Amino acid sequence: MTKKHSNARQTTNNTDSIYLNNVFVRPGEATELPKFQMPQGQILPETAYQIVHDEAMLDGNARLNLATFVSTWMDDEARRLYAETVDKNMIDKDEYPQTAAIEDRCWRILADLWHNPDVDNAIGTSTIGSSEACMLGGLALKRHWQARRKAEGKSTEQPNLVLSTAVQVCWEKFCNYFEVEPRWVPISPDHLVLDGYELEKYVDENTIGVVAIMGQTYTGMYEPVKEIAAKLDQIQADTGLDVKIHVDGASGAMIAPFCQPELEWDFRIDRVASINTSGHKFGLVYPGVGWIVWRDTAALPDSMVFHCSYLGGDMPTLALNFSRPGAQVLLQYYMFLRLGREGYRQVQQGSLDVAQYLSAEIAKIGPFELVSRGDTIPVFAWRLKDGYTDKWSLYDLSDRLRMKGWLVPAYPMADDLAALTVQRIVVRAGLSRDLAAALLRDLEGEVTFLDNLEAPLPREGEGSHFHH
Ligand SMILES: *Cc1c(COP(=O)(O)O)cnc(C)c1O
Repeated sequence: MTKKHSNARQTTNNTDSIYLNNVFVRPGEATELPKFQMPQGQILPETAYQIVHDEAMLDGNARLNLATFVSTWMDDEARRLYAETVDKNMIDKDEYPQTAAIEDRCWRILADLWHNPDVDNAIGTSTIGSSEACMLGGLALKRHWQARRKAEGKSTEQPNLVLSTAVQVCWEKFCNYFEVEPRWVPISPDHLVLDGYELEKYVDENTIGVVAIMGQTYTGMYEPVKEIAAKLDQIQADTGLDVKIHVDGASGAMIAPFCQPELEWDFRIDRVASINTSGHKFGLVYPGVGWIVWRDTAALPDSMVFHCSYLGGDMPTLALNFSRPGAQVLLQYYMFLRLGREGYRQVQQGSLDVAQYLSAEIAKIGPFELVSRGDTIPVFAWRLKDGYTDKWSLYDLSDRLRMKGWLVPAYPMADDLAALTVQRIVVRAGLSRDLAAALLRDLEGEVTFLDNLEAPLPREGEGSHFHH
């Protein structure tokens, strides 16, 4: 018998007993604790648990969050493994050599999946997410450029990186934090993605590299890595400049290998120096784990690598963080083992099928026009038809859906097309056909509601709904 129970027995007549009292009439629940200062005293763990649990309950329901790319479902075995390994620190490679070995296996599996021609000579690492992976990828490009320029006795003052205005915010951070000029290639109705068009106007001797996105955040569209590389081949033939590509495959690098195996976007293209992905997106692991793989050790400057001796050898390590959770790396390996190539194909194809079912049905609803269909990554966006209504906007529809629990963001397109508002759905494992049908019913109902309004809704809070 636990202490808690014996105490409760002895004090059945004592109405002040905090053990006996219902949790909601205990101090901390029935009274209000300070929120911005540490409380003076202690409370029972059950009470503290209840308070935090209940606040988190006020968040949106993660499974109905159709804004995020990040996993919101894993199976029971994964959850068990997670609970068993929450205490692993990834950096303690001496103490947890098996976790380190598993990390090594994971990026090699990815290198192979991405057609690296010589995995033994490749190099990679786990990260906290794609953002950190992109920082490392960008930094490697910068260091290479610097070394080359120094060897030629030329200035290293003005590095630039060529990228679409529709990149994820991590690339703006990279340019800002690591002091690289972003050379923005605008998107336009004719060029919704970076496709090599007029690339020669942006690339020069100070260009450290070009970013190609496999799965644009705004629309899910792929940038055609092969066409971008062909244009860079042309530029090299014309000018002698040899500019490498980093592929930001945060989403697409875990979809294309399974569902579009013929598409060449990876290490099959010589110009691709490095690729990142988010293990916690379509890698199907809870947040946060990301990955980056470089084509070969030559693509990763030695100046970025810190050498540790463990596992009996000399293991290179590189990362921005020191400590970070190791459990997600183990979960990634669990997923690779559990699903294999065929399992990943099935899961991703299932999401693509639901995305295309939803986009086809949404295209049939009067006001909407698709911007993308969900046939690259299972992500698609739509817009209001030109001149459909002044009474309501996609922001209003987003608000209405939120009342039903669905989180479906509306947001302006990237710079240059920012006047265009789009709405987007990310389909992840766990959005079943049934749930999708329920979402469609709610969507149709809310459109009818908005169409039947007598007066236009007030315009407020536009642009505040979008999370990259
Ligand atoms: C999500 C995303 C990122 C950032 O990845 P995190 O894992 O969230 O850090 C970078 N690029 C693209 C294209 C993305 O979709």
